[in-house]
Amino acid sequence: MFSYQKTIGNKVSCFGIGLHTGVRVDVSLNPAGVDTGIVFKRNDVKGKNPAIEASYKNVSNTMLGTTLRNEDGVSVATIEHLMAALWGCGIDNCVVEINGPEVPIMDGSSEPFVFLIECAGKKELNKARKVIEVLKEIKVSESDDANSGYISIAPADGFSVGLEIDFGDKVISKQNCVFDSRDVSFKSDLCRARTFGFEHEVNYLREQGLARGGSLDNAIVVGKEGVLNKDGLRYSDEFVRHKILDCIGDVYLAGAYIKGHLHGFKSGHALNNQLLHEFFADEDAWRVVQLSDSDSASMLDHKVQ
Ligand SMILES: [Zn+2]
Repeated sequence: MFSYQKTIGNKVSCFGIGLHTGVRVDVSLNPAGVDTGIVFKRNDVKGKNPAIEASYKNVSNTMLGTTLRNEDGVSVATIEHLMAALWGCGIDNCVVEINGPEVPIMDGSSEPFVFLIECAGKKELNKARKVIEVLKEIKVSESDDANSGYISIAPADGFSVGLEIDFGDKVISKQNCVFDSRDVSFKSDLCRARTFGFEHEVNYLREQGLARGGSLDNAIVVGKEGVLNKDGLRYSDEFVRHKILDCIGDVYLAGAYIKGHLHGFKSGHALNNQLLHEFFADEDAWRVVQLSDSDSASMLDHKVQ
């Protein structure tokens, strides 16, 4: 028995504000047929192709989150937390309709999207799920400097991500965490981790007209002595967990589930995208497989189901 592709059971909608635009956006998740993948559709765009495939090939900007753009120049920003939620819920096919240029930030984590997908329910489709199996290690680095950021992908039995961060400050400092989908739960251990920024950066971004929607309601703000959010952190190592969440959302732009292990140090959206480009460019590094139901359950569908 192969593991089958899934979509959501019903159309579901939510709204929120864009982190960078500060403008209200409405999003609806729609059931989609086999081999659709995840597709964003800008229903506010007229006279151009509104559909943007969620593919690493369409990544146009990685400065403050991941932005996708199609060949008509139509774009959608900050897709990574929604992508991570779709991954975590085992959704292969979904059309995400959106009436603005940025996915709403919600509370800064993937949890509201996981809730939305759970409300929609899941539907199994009549075609085997495609999985990309990693056959050879590929690594990309920011530079040759020993302390610079890197990320690698290597063969493994299941799917796991191990990241290490080092901000050189007092509050976050160094953190490392391994998420292995066979041992821990995406829903309880990862999806609630929020995005974060430093107080001085927030002021700078505001001056540049960015992060207009950012507030303590949708991000952890890190001051010199501690976090400014009154309720503190959701996990003691919430920062590195959020980086893993981002990595999973970015890597789901592979267009399918991956069987392999990712390992990164001070990595982010840019390296995540560079890794996928180099990985797929090397035809000896991967192959497409179908997994049996039991293999799939242990690595893909996680404990959300
Ligand atoms: Zn993020």
